[in-house]
This record gives sequence, structure tokens and C-alpha cells, in this order.
Amino acid sequence: MSKIYSLFIVFLLPFICLAQNYKIKKNNFFNKLTKEERRIIVNKGTERKWSGKYNNHSKSGVYVCKACNNPLFKSSHKFNSKCGWPSFDDEIKGSIVRVPDYSYGMNRTEIICSNCKGHLGHVFEGERYTDKNVRHCVNSISLVFIDIETYLRIKANP
Ligand SMILES: [Zn+2]
Repeated sequence: MSKIYSLFIVFLLPFICLAQNYKIKKNNFFNKLTKEERRIIVNKGTERKWSGKYNNHSKSGVYVCKACNNPLFKSSHKFNSKCGWPSFDDEIKGSIVRVPDYSYGMNRTEIICSNCKGHLGHVFEGERYTDKNVRHCVNSISLVFIDIETYLRIKANP
């Protein structure tokens, strides 16, 4: 039985995930979201400045998408920008998509999860906070932190 289950994981899961990539709708995320999480992640809201649980968080690990568990940022990407939201100067390759955002009369670049298209925040360049000169300004509510030991264990035994 466990062999059949392993086969399912190895051969079928990637196809199911891929299929969901293109079928995800606003009310069809992988994880169940609360009303507030939907406000931010689905309806592109913004959490109140300084209110996010990861704003001053500095443990070693990986930040994954709240909606679909896609690994987005490493703790080594995180820096203190003092802007009121968690800030990252890099991303896990391929995990994020940039989208032009002209809402509220501004010219910004929205960042969304490459897997589920959930809203994460915005990205800014040229501010010279770090050598990479990039600031992903992310809502804590769009993220789940997984400490490095747990993350490596999950990766080794999915
Ligand atoms: Zn996602």
C-alpha cells in the first residue's frame, strides 16, 4: 500500500500540481484561507504597517506561500528595511512573478506567487538598502515560516 502511495506521490502529484497552476481561481487555493488572508492574498490587500508577525522575525529557515506552500524566500534574503513589512532582497529562483501595478495612481510592481498567483506584496529596486539593491516588501500574512530543520526534513521526506 505504501508503495502505491509513493508511486502516486512521485508520478501523479507533479501533474496534479501543474494542472492546478493553470486552474487556480480566486476561491480555489490549495490551503483554506481565513477571511483576512483572502483579503490580502486573493483580493490584493495590504496588512497594516508594523502589524505583521514576520516583520521583526529573524530565525533561520524558509518562508513559503500561505496559500500553496510554494517556497518563496530564504531567511538569508531577509533584511531590516524599517519599512513596517518583512523585506527580502532576493527570492527563491522561479518562485515569484512580477506584475505591473498602476492601482491608486501609482506605478509599482506587484509580486505574486508563481504557483498559485496569490498576492505577496510589491518589489522595489534602486533604494540601496542592500548590495542586491532589491526590496521585496511582503505581507506577513501571505507567508508561513518553516524553520530550517523542519524544512530540510520535509524536503528529504516529502
Ligand atoms: Zn502560492
